[in-house]
Amino acid sequence: MTTTQLSPGRSVLAVVAHPDDAELAMGMRLLDHAQAGDRVRVHCLSAGRPGKDGEVRQAECLAAAEILRIDRYTFSAIPDTRFTDHRGAINAALFDTVAVERPDIVYTHFPDDQHLDHGATGEEVTAVAMREASDLIYFRSLYSRNFEPNLLFVGTPELLAAKQKALACFASQQQLDMTVFTGLNTLAYRQHVHHRVVERFPDDAHGVEMFRTARQIVHATRPCAPIRPPALTISTAAASWPGWQADTVV
Ligand SMILES: [Zn+2]
Repeated sequence: MTTTQLSPGRSVLAVVAHPDDAELAMGMRLLDHAQAGDRVRVHCLSAGRPGKDGEVRQAECLAAAEILRIDRYTFSAIPDTRFTDHRGAINAALFDTVAVERPDIVYTHFPDDQHLDHGATGEEVTAVAMREASDLIYFRSLYSRNFEPNLLFVGTPELLAAKQKALACFASQQQLDMTVFTGLNTLAYRQHVHHRVVERFPDDAHGVEMFRTARQIVHATRPCAPIRPPALTISTAAASWPGWQADTVV
């Protein structure tokens, strides 16, 4: 299990295939990054069909971005469901995006996914992010396969409410059933986390978003704390060992 302590002021970039992918997979995490002082950008590789459909879907994204405090929400025009035919254009769009953002942390789809657009996005972002960013973290999509999380983000009632409000902005997406979504968001992680660990979650834990870290670079804390001798504790079992002299315990 990996735990991440957020450092204020980092550049966070989430690259997704479709409008609403980011909000669905990591709406709470995005808002938490913003609240920690990080700059958050979402780049969506498709932007809906040209014309009215595209305008509606982009407007939905921008409304959700306001709720989740996303600083920039940008789009490319890769045709929906045709990503595998446009890998060159995806690669060019990604290099343009990272050149502007210089991201510290990149999030994207887990490459093994039933949706071909998600898989192509995960693979192309991996190639670019490994070269251009410090951390690369995959989020779990609805159609991820063989996904074993090693980073779980535990939400709060406020974060989950904001995420639900953001998802409600996607009115054109009838398949977003809020009851099903909330149930999944609340319970899906239980198959990955032992109940002894779940029992230690805060009482107000609400919703869990799941991630898999591809790479995370952690820098040393500066300045160094003064050197102190480690505390030495002898367990009862050790102290009862025959021949042990109790007065040697320090
Ligand atoms: Zn999608």
